[in-house]
Amino acid sequence: MDKPVTAKNFTIKSNISLILVRNQRESHSCQEHHQYANMDVKILPALKDNYMYLLVDRATNEAAVVDPVETKTVLQAVQDHQVKLTTVLTTHHHWDHAGGNEELAKQVPGIEIYGGDDRIGALTKKVEHNTIFNVGNLLVQCLFTPCHTMGHICYYVTTPEEGSDGVVFTGDTLFLAGCGRFFEGNAEQMYNAFSILGSLPDNTKVYCGHEYTLQNLKFAAYVEPSNEEVIKKTAWSEQRRVEGKPTVPSTIGEEKKYNPFMRVSELPVLKHAGAQNAIQAMRNIRLEKDSFQ
Ligand SMILES: [Zn+2]
Repeated sequence: MDKPVTAKNFTIKSNISLILVRNQRESHSCQEHHQYANMDVKILPALKDNYMYLLVDRATNEAAVVDPVETKTVLQAVQDHQVKLTTVLTTHHHWDHAGGNEELAKQVPGIEIYGGDDRIGALTKKVEHNTIFNVGNLLVQCLFTPCHTMGHICYYVTTPEEGSDGVVFTGDTLFLAGCGRFFEGNAEQMYNAFSILGSLPDNTKVYCGHEYTLQNLKFAAYVEPSNEEVIKKTAWSEQRRVEGKPTVPSTIGEEKKYNPFMRVSELPVLKHAGAQNAIQAMRNIRLEKDSFQ
């Protein structure tokens, strides 16, 4: 749950807005299927700008779903791909992420519902920082990232093969080029959360909870007008949105280049924020973003 996105919020060319409106009749983006070594991620757009994800271990055909707010879409994907859904990974308790849990628990008897907050519906497995478990052969590591909500968990997933890229589901903590609102926490907590995420390997794929990339990049350009990476990512993202395609995933390495909240220790961001240190910069630019149009 963050600032609602409507086509008119986009400041890109008007023809792009029209295409987005057309797309939103059905969904805000098309579904996409990404294959990694022994692991599949299927992007399932939901609601106005949310993303759910079906995560599949190809070796065992076992699957988990991240933030399954629209259960019908999830169950259709499970059927289409003929996988065995055993697990729900809930990033946080907001209804647009956890709102489908009860229904899914009814439809899929025995499904385990993971999360880090007692407010999460149908929770069966409460996790903490560094709780580790398997989905098939995939290894899931829980990263406690409180701030947007006090029980927010990001899920870092790797395969047993050495040297293969991991993926991280970041919910409403890390967005492409942005971060979630501080509903229940403070700047120090978000700074810590970003430090944890920033310590993952640079080639880790980032799958976040909302399609907010273009609005976030607009703010990134305001914070760092001469950052070439922001300009490049904006052009790429505009093209993706014209085609109705998701902008996820990015990588941790990419985020370090253009995400102002990942860059609060960098001189241009500190200067823009009028801050003496990174936490102060985090606080100041999030406050600024809260009212940024
Ligand atoms: Zn939220």
